[in-house]
Amino acid sequence: MRMGKYKRGDQRASKMIEFTANIQNKEREPMFDRQNHSVFWLGGLIFILLVIAAANMRGQNAETVESQNADGVGAAEEIRIRGRLVCLAEAMHDLYRADLPADHEHLHGFETTDGVFYTLLRTNLSEALFVDKRLHQKTLIIRGRTFPKTYLLEAIRLQSLHDGVVHDLYYYCDTCAIRAAAPGDCVCCQAPVELVEKPIKFAPLSD
Ligand SMILES: [Zn+2]
Ligand SMILES: [Zn+2]
Repeated sequence: MRMGKYKRGDQRASKMIEFTANIQNKEREPMFDRQNHSVFWLGGLIFILLVIAAANMRGQNAETVESQNADGVGAAEEIRIRGRLVCLAEAMHDLYRADLPADHEHLHGFETTDGVFYTLLRTNLSEALFVDKRLHQKTLIIRGRTFPKTYLLEAIRLQSLHDGVVHDLYYYCDTCAIRAAAPGDCVCCQAPVELVEKPIKFAPLSD
């Protein structure tokens, strides 16, 4: 049983057991017969207390689930971060000597310019970060979401930064004028889509 979580119920139960045990100790001395009887009675009491404790545990579990549903689990946070793609396993090996098997599977992550590491969720929109090696050479800006109590990053929009200019980063089929989030074949003509980095033009301010 996972008793550790339910201290309140346990403490109450153990206090009562202690209390009854004290009574038993005082009453035990005069007669052996009575002691046997008492042991039996005490066993029964402990059983009942355990049943009550178990019922408490169930009640507390139900409360926890309810309060989480009522309060929600917190909101995802929208972020925009700059940095580069890294293998987290290698980064943790370099920084902290974390064990790194020679034939490890890369653990795809993102290291921000101020040294925060995010683990990347693999989604349709983030697929390029997992499969396109060219993106590993670039300074990227990722817009996306991170989730309460995690450093998971759901990338939603990819941009690159070079020569001080922000570029939208996507894949494109010239023939069909179709845009894609990840490399692969064009959904229309099946030709491979090309990586595009398009400088973001800011609309000039009118006088
Ligand atoms: Zn790796
Ligand atoms: Zn096409």
